[in-house]
Amino acid sequence: MKKSRNRRKRILLRLQHILTGAAVVCVAVIALLLVNALRGNEISGPGRTAGSALFASGGERFVEAGEEARIMAEQQGEKAENVGTESADSEQEKTDRENTTETGLSPEKLAAQEGVPRIRIVLDPGHGGPGTTDEQELGASYRDTYEKYLTLKIAKAAGTELSNYGNVEILYTRENDKALTLKERAAYARSVGADYLISLHLNASAEHNFFGSEVFTSAFGSYYARGKGIGDQVLAQLMGDGFVSKGVKTRLGSKGADYYGIIRESRALGIPAIIIEHGYMDQDEDWARMDTDEKLAALGRCDATGIAAYFGLKKGENQAELPEIDRKEPASSPVRPDTTEPVNVYYTLTHRDAENVRITLHAEEPESRVMYYDYSTDSGTTYSRLFLWPEGSGNDITFTLPATASQEETLVIRAYNNYELRTEAERR
Ligand SMILES: [Zn+2]
Repeated sequence: MKKSRNRRKRILLRLQHILTGAAVVCVAVIALLLVNALRGNEISGPGRTAGSALFASGGERFVEAGEEARIMAEQQGEKAENVGTESADSEQEKTDRENTTETGLSPEKLAAQEGVPRIRIVLDPGHGGPGTTDEQELGASYRDTYEKYLTLKIAKAAGTELSNYGNVEILYTRENDKALTLKERAAYARSVGADYLISLHLNASAEHNFFGSEVFTSAFGSYYARGKGIGDQVLAQLMGDGFVSKGVKTRLGSKGADYYGIIRESRALGIPAIIIEHGYMDQDEDWARMDTDEKLAALGRCDATGIAAYFGLKKGENQAELPEIDRKEPASSPVRPDTTEPVNVYYTLTHRDAENVRITLHAEEPESRVMYYDYSTDSGTTYSRLFLWPEGSGNDITFTLPATASQEETLVIRAYNNYELRTEAERR
């Protein structure tokens, strides 16, 4: 009896060993598969290149980050389940788990951790002030609201999202409807020892026709490089939200300095600054991506995700050392904006029926990119909306527009670059 019980016990023990071994192997295999899957995504994702591929990848990456966090949380849970009962956890491990949210450390714990490098970012909600007449304080004014209110909402969402990442500290030039000059904003950033200033804005155009996101950076040396680096990442995120990208740009004033005050004043104090123009308040499709608080918050999260990507920040985790950032100086400085219109702009009429004509439009833009086109069928008295010149379609596009035979004589077609400069097409 005793012998057979011992034997049964031995068999049970062996069985247990085998099962435990199998479980360990299973977990290891699952973990390996997950790691490979995540790596595969990273390699195959176009990520940092410019182009229409980003349109798809921006959104994917956004989802991926959340998905990755979920998987990591699951793995952590799994680990705890498998080893937790066997070996007694160290006190430290226990405390770590208690302080850990689904995506890692909470913003409070991240901020409290000592001895880790931190990037200090000042978020600057554009405009602001209680007055009702000063245009600089109000910002763009459309849809019964003012830019100053919307930029504040975007900034708060950006700050909240960024606080989920490690190695970062967020400050704001304003957290309410306060008037500040551009000089004061830059001075504030300096006073708190900011590493970067990110100014948040919404756009508008004289003819209410432009659409898309753009980022302005200093034209000079490493200030350009860092602004361009952050800008590209933020624009990739905004493209994931449905915007088209007008690119990262510079603008110079008549004396050759950076045109925008916030960029100029910040650089004078040694702080790289960028302006994020998320989209156009006075254009319907762009507006449709910012017309609720939730959509504005999504814009803020795009900014945060882009900023975090540039610096290599991790959600829920402070890194002991941050990855080297890309700050390679441009080949020549200042980096000048495109100040000339598209060239060799002409069209041919390839087909017509009673109501429509088929047009092939040609345009070249050696310094920037051809970005939009529009047309008039009444000799330029009125124009169509702006249409996107699809990226990657080269110098020629073909489209149909409504024009009767008599309107052929009064047809005007124009091509624009991403600096809003246009050339009227010649008919060939
Ligand atoms: Zn603005």
